[in-house]
Amino acid sequence: MEHPTRMKAIVKPRPGPGLELTEVDVPPIGPSDVLIQVRAASICGTDLHIYRWDPWAESRIKPPLIVGHEFCGTVVAKGAEVHHLDVGAYVSAESHIVCGTCAYCRTGRGHLCPNTRIIGVDVDGAWAEYVAIPAVNAWLNPPDLPPHIATLEENFGNAVHTAFAVDLRARKVLVTGCGPVGIMAIAVARAIGARAVYATDISDYRLALARKMGATVTINAAREDVVARVLAETGGEGVDAWLEMAGAPQAIEQGFAVLKPGGHVALLGLPSEPLRFDLNNWVIFKGATVHGIIGRRLWETWFQMSGLIRSGAVDLEALVTHRFPMSQFEEALHTMASGESGKVVLLPD
Ligand code: ZN
Repeated sequence: MEHPTRMKAIVKPRPGPGLELTEVDVPPIGPSDVLIQVRAASICGTDLHIYRWDPWAESRIKPPLIVGHEFCGTVVAKGAEVHHLDVGAYVSAESHIVCGTCAYCRTGRGHLCPNTRIIGVDVDGAWAEYVAIPAVNAWLNPPDLPPHIATLEENFGNAVHTAFAVDLRARKVLVTGCGPVGIMAIAVARAIGARAVYATDISDYRLALARKMGATVTINAAREDVVARVLAETGGEGVDAWLEMAGAPQAIEQGFAVLKPGGHVALLGLPSEPLRFDLNNWVIFKGATVHGIIGRRLWETWFQMSGLIRSGAVDLEALVTHRFPMSQFEEALHTMASGESGKVVLLPD
């Protein structure tokens, strides 16, 4: 396929807040890379951190950088060593570029690779007309998967990785935090047979979306006593399993308070600073099992995620609440930050 040499891209041009829509060269590809024409991209919390230039972004991002790591698109060119993908292939992408040769990569634990580089964070990303990535990071999609769903796969993988870390089948499950990943985890929990899902958040908008996606009971933590309500809903017993997606110290405290002895928790939400942790009562005396979740299992999570979407067990359609042309990225970012949205998708102008 022919492609131009210049393209529009959303760039962090220099250290500091904000992003700019500008024209740059279409990225070159190496022998093991593919060039992808972007068909849809979506916004993640990480993109907001980069936009606002918070302490994390300041320590990690080296401008100039094209941002964006959730996307799908069509392969328009490939390097000489790429044999498993053809030009024209419709793909999503794993955003973590791992080395493939370290002890973690070689033992099926590539999500822990210490040499990980992240698309749109450490290398140029996908809020652009074209993006170049290692071919091994591309995930082939069926042609009939809509782009506004295919772009969610990377983020959905976080939810699947979290929900599959703990046995949820026939269990009473607490989900703290109903951002998009929390809501996707709720849908997975119901799809794989959770008995009940209790969901907490401080946004009524997101709790309503959580109900739509399968939550049995929703609790607004800003107004209600979460611990009392979950205990009342579970006959005083608490929950067997808990997925922590908020990163808020209060949510973490509430979760441990209602986790049954012998219960399991999978932690994905990131507290903004170190928190007070009652190891004795929360973990040791309770006999609790705590799982930390990072990224997606390569590539087990992608097969699980794809299976859930293709079978119809999880339908992400209702989660996509907003779509913007790429040029209106500022409005899109503000919508995402408002808490009055599910996933916000960017489409080529
Ligand atoms: Zn590695």
